[in-house]
Amino acid sequence: MSSPATGGEVLTEIVLAGPRGFCAGVERAIEIVERALAVAGGPIYVRREIVHNRHVVEALRKKGAIFVEELDEVPAGATVIFSAHGVSPAVREEATARGLRVIDATCPLVTKVHIEAIRYAREGYTIVLVGHEDHDEVIGTTGEAPERIVVIDSVKEAERLEVDDPTKVAYLTQTTLSVDDTRAIIEVLRRRFPRITGPSRDDICYATQNRQAAVKELGAEVDLVLVLGAANSSNAARLREVAAAVGTRAHLINDVRDIQHEWIDGVRRVGVTAGASTPEFLVREVVAFLESRGTPAVRELNVVEEDVRFALPHELLAIARQAGKQATPSA
Ligand code: SF4
Repeated sequence: MSSPATGGEVLTEIVLAGPRGFCAGVERAIEIVERALAVAGGPIYVRREIVHNRHVVEALRKKGAIFVEELDEVPAGATVIFSAHGVSPAVREEATARGLRVIDATCPLVTKVHIEAIRYAREGYTIVLVGHEDHDEVIGTTGEAPERIVVIDSVKEAERLEVDDPTKVAYLTQTTLSVDDTRAIIEVLRRRFPRITGPSRDDICYATQNRQAAVKELGAEVDLVLVLGAANSSNAARLREVAAAVGTRAHLINDVRDIQHEWIDGVRRVGVTAGASTPEFLVREVVAFLESRGTPAVRELNVVEEDVRFALPHELLAIARQAGKQATPSA
């Protein structure tokens, strides 16, 4: 962290972390809802928040999407979209039983973790899933093999964990965890279960890793970090923690209205970043607010370039074909 500012100093610089904001999985999920609204006849239901950001959800609601918590709120035969966080097999089975037309917006990197869980379960492993048990993604992954998966989220739990056969243990991780905390947990698991197996790298996704790497550098250069994101967004919450871990004051905010003026008083450099489900316009609003507090320079701190894109799901393309429309805009 740079040297602390004193009360009389004014804001001289706004530093924007790069990458920040939307990841490829979130962009794809939002695009799926928008395209479904454009091509499918009839209402489009979305189970749970498509991504954890109320600005995104509200914008899609205004365009016509109907958000529900559970499938029993969706009329039989209607079209429903599963969120980017993924669902358990039980939810898929319920959709089939109710004759729902499903479009799956699960991020392909979450699907990869489901496939790993299925494989380890089939091979008879106890699967230690490092993650937050109340998060939609972990609930979905656990549903692949509930009798085989145990969820932990701390070094303490890793130390205490007991399994039937310590020689047959595998681990998986939620995609949006803290890289550093997860490494510490996996180290304990490796010490306690030397024959533990896992993915070649942990499952923390590229977007989470890159945003954390960027906020780490950002935190070292500024006096205050503002992280835009929802409190229930795992990756946004981790960004605040990573910034705080380098010794910088850091706040998680939904939008510009959450900024408290005393946070900025006497601060020379403010860093801004955004979670993977936070739209860029919220960053621009914060920058405009900070600019109104003086004449700070605005600088981009680009740590990694990203060019990841995921294809749209085949079921959306099939629905568009049926309707005689294109699921993607013509070039
Ligand atoms: S944060 Fe990672 S896993 Fe989650 S939607 Fe984005 S790319 Fe996919």
